Amino acid sequence: MTILEDIKAELPANAQIVETVYEGPDIILYTKNESFFKDSGEFIRGVVAKVKKRVEVRAAETLLMTQEKTKELIKEIMPAEAGIRDIYFEPEFAKVVIHAEKPGLAIGKAGELLRKIKASTFWTPDIKRAPAIDSELIAAVRKMLHKEAGYRKKFLNSLGEKIYGEKKEVEWVRVTGLGGFREVGRSAILVSTPQSRVLLDCGVALGGGRQFPHLEVSEFNLQTLDAVVISHAHLDHSALVPYLYEYGYRGPVFCTRPTRDLSILLQMDYIAIAAREGKKAPYSSKGIEEMIKHCVTLELGQVTDITPDFRITLENSGHLLGASCVHMNIGDGTYNLLYSADMKFERTKLFDPAFTDYARVEGLIIESTYGDERLPSHNEGERKLLDIVRRVTSNGGRVIIPTFAVGRAQDVIAMLVDSDLQVPIYLDGMLWDATAIHTAYPEFMSRSMQIDILRKKKNPFIDPRLKGIGSGAERREVLHSAHPCVVLATSGMLQGGPAMEYLKEFAANPANCLLFVGYQAEGTLGRRIQKGWRYIPIEGDDHGLELKLQVDTVEGLSGHSDVNQLINWVKSLRAKPRKIICNHGENSVIASFVRLLHNELKVETAAPKNLETIRLK
Ligand code: ZN
Repeated sequence: MTILEDIKAELPANAQIVETVYEGPDIILYTKNESFFKDSGEFIRGVVAKVKKRVEVRAAETLLMTQEKTKELIKEIMPAEAGIRDIYFEPEFAKVVIHAEKPGLAIGKAGELLRKIKASTFWTPDIKRAPAIDSELIAAVRKMLHKEAGYRKKFLNSLGEKIYGEKKEVEWVRVTGLGGFREVGRSAILVSTPQSRVLLDCGVALGGGRQFPHLEVSEFNLQTLDAVVISHAHLDHSALVPYLYEYGYRGPVFCTRPTRDLSILLQMDYIAIAAREGKKAPYSSKGIEEMIKHCVTLELGQVTDITPDFRITLENSGHLLGASCVHMNIGDGTYNLLYSADMKFERTKLFDPAFTDYARVEGLIIESTYGDERLPSHNEGERKLLDIVRRVTSNGGRVIIPTFAVGRAQDVIAMLVDSDLQVPIYLDGMLWDATAIHTAYPEFMSRSMQIDILRKKKNPFIDPRLKGIGSGAERREVLHSAHPCVVLATSGMLQGGPAMEYLKEFAANPANCLLFVGYQAEGTLGRRIQKGWRYIPIEGDDHGLELKLQVDTVEGLSGHSDVNQLINWVKSLRAKPRKIICNHGENSVIASFVRLLHNELKVETAAPKNLETIRLK
């Protein structure tokens, strides 16, 4: 019996169900009976307990109140403090989407207001947070999902049919590294069973060559690929997902909402940079649009079937907004595989340490970026950062912090605004957009940050000291002002970007400071300056640039675990893995980390190369 038949058999006589459909992994019953719609709570709880899937009752079209009237009623029911910004309808899903500045107030105590709206209009309300800083990107994504609701309904329906289709026995489980093994960059891992092929991440190598993972191998085939999961938004994990769509993949991609939005921001920048450099980008904005249309977003901790034999759960990895470790329950518990992706096992300004409470883990794929290195603690990093910024600005100097737009930047912003500094903090360009996205998803931050933002109304990203720089004119104003300030700008390793404009202007004054907060790769201008270069040739300028400003580096702010944190995380896992596969580390680092893990934990460890396949079961 299929799950749908199972559910139908349980239905009470008065249910009057007109449609029973899959919407991706969820099962939706559309009823034309008013009282069943209102009172189906208990029935649903019973069914959910039995089938262990998410089941929801919605109203058939004939019951729905007119859109005009519904809008009026919602405005009456919702308190003004909820800050309702937008209300629109998706009849395909019998849903009314409500954008609210304070979703908690819009939902009401224990969902009271939502129930009231449902009972009086028959529409199912879907509350989305209106970000505290307007984000064009989030608005565009929501608009697109709205426009494509008809397509989404069909896509989710056929996805559900596939997920809950016939199951094959899981005789074996194999893992093949397509990229990111014995190297950092171009992460892509294919996990396959007799039934399913699931791709974990699909990034580029960002150093020199911008190489792709090995998507050319015969066992990787867009036609037979069942699902893609993105662990987090960094380009070495997400850049090439739109490329898969550009070349015909039409299956689902699973990730958290912040990972979706931050990935889009970085992917758009990735193709814009290629265009600026006169190179051909591997895909167009069309590929990104297709990815958005096929994206199924998951909450952290939400158990979800993604193929007939893969059930995944994304859990906090402490690395970045929305970043997750991916737990895979394969073949109803036949094998449990955990992919750490990029992971931080230390409390940071914005995130709790990576989750450890996994009930079962037989196999573990773990990142090894700092597998042979101790780093100063995050707290030490914070102290040093604030000491330097205080000293420079109180002496009348200006600080330029070159940083990657997503991640480290918001960590540093949170540290700066949590201090007694009284100077303006400028966020240039994409950094401001990335910060705006952070204001849409406080629920993905640490518990203490959520309490600060939601209860104490202490949101680090809407601090009055922060100022976004959106235009050339605004930038010139900052460049030519003599007031002490802090500027955060891309690129993080001084490979072009607005950070260079500030550096040129600030360079001559010994009171100013160039402050590195992130890793500077070999071959970048940032690394050369760290090594002591104080003269930089500038294209189109015979004199070049002499650096008279101070240069300093703060360590310990990494979003990756150091070697002790990696080992401690594995030791803290509730379930002890039997086999550990190391990836995402330079060759020499992995070689030492894989030995250390084996000695410390007495389990089987491996460090395969790209294209090697390991059979797990
Ligand atoms: Zn990362």
